[in-house]
Amino acid sequence: MERLEKLLGEVVEGRRLTVKEALYLYREADLLLLGKAASAVRDRLHPERIVTFVVDRNINYTNVCYCSCLFCAFHRRPEDPDAYVLSTEEVLAKVEELVEQGGTQVLLQGGLHPDLGLDYFEELFRAIKARYPVHLHALSPPEIIHLARKEKLTVREVLERLKAAGLDSVPGGGAEILVNRVRRLISPRKITWQEWMAVMITAFELGLFGSATMMFGTVETVEERIEHLNRLREVQDRTRGFTAFIPWTYQPYNTALGGNPVPTVEYLRLLALSRLFLDNIPNIQASWVTQGTKVGQVALAFGANDFGGTMMEENVVRAAGAAYRTNREEVIRLIKDAGFIPAQRTTDYRIIRFF
Ligand code: SF4
Repeated sequence: MERLEKLLGEVVEGRRLTVKEALYLYREADLLLLGKAASAVRDRLHPERIVTFVVDRNINYTNVCYCSCLFCAFHRRPEDPDAYVLSTEEVLAKVEELVEQGGTQVLLQGGLHPDLGLDYFEELFRAIKARYPVHLHALSPPEIIHLARKEKLTVREVLERLKAAGLDSVPGGGAEILVNRVRRLISPRKITWQEWMAVMITAFELGLFGSATMMFGTVETVEERIEHLNRLREVQDRTRGFTAFIPWTYQPYNTALGGNPVPTVEYLRLLALSRLFLDNIPNIQASWVTQGTKVGQVALAFGANDFGGTMMEENVVRAAGAAYRTNREEVIRLIKDAGFIPAQRTTDYRIIRFF
């Protein structure tokens, strides 16, 4: 107990955790002690007691995907009756609704469609940017690599063209667990962890920034969860390109993999540990989409300083059984009720207004 409390005290003061120490804390620390330490670190980094959020819309341009990840309930084959691809006009109508409601961020992601090439995205990005003052947070690493393979271009060339068409930042989707043993089991057709990281590093070199995510609760071990955090921390030391870390839990319903949801205490443990371990990523998001808004509030006492997006629309997690919805007014109330000051932010964490 003494060793544990001494270690937590040092981390709160700013000492970096080793992988071995993180494993020790994950296994041995009382959940509330971990939360208290994570909260103290959060207060050191964000002393103003502000909790930020972004008003956004998650637009999934297609649900057609050849990857068939075992944990995914969203993908369809091209011949399925509910398969779709959104036209530029349909996407624009959704962006218009977002802007009318004071939204600033479009999170554009979709399946790996065998027929959608770079021209579809260039046209779409240009059309959005020509009409609306929104931030385009679009296409996660698996989608970028899919485009590079399809067009026989390098990742850098694809990113350069997308950036020229209006891409502002790269969402860190498709990370799941950044360990290939896990990836082979739950998403055997998807890119390796090295490929995921290479896309993010290239994006950072081109002046874009990105987020880091983690989907846990499938087949990974605790060691592999820490390995994931460690790989992010190492790259962040060199690049400073990740603005936020967003851990969320596997949603098992309607998936080929099946299984059970991650218990809330396990989510909070991972969240607190990520705040303690990732000393170089400033923002940690509460995942109300997978955990519900009440756990989202509790997450603010376990190291999170951001409530993520208000998400006018969300389809991927919803397909796997998490049906939580919220809106800007509710997010503001939830943050206030938890004892923090709500602030709407831009995608790059500049504050637009306080509430
Ligand atoms: S998680 Fe993404 S890549 Fe995997 S099947 Fe679903 S849509 Fe396709």
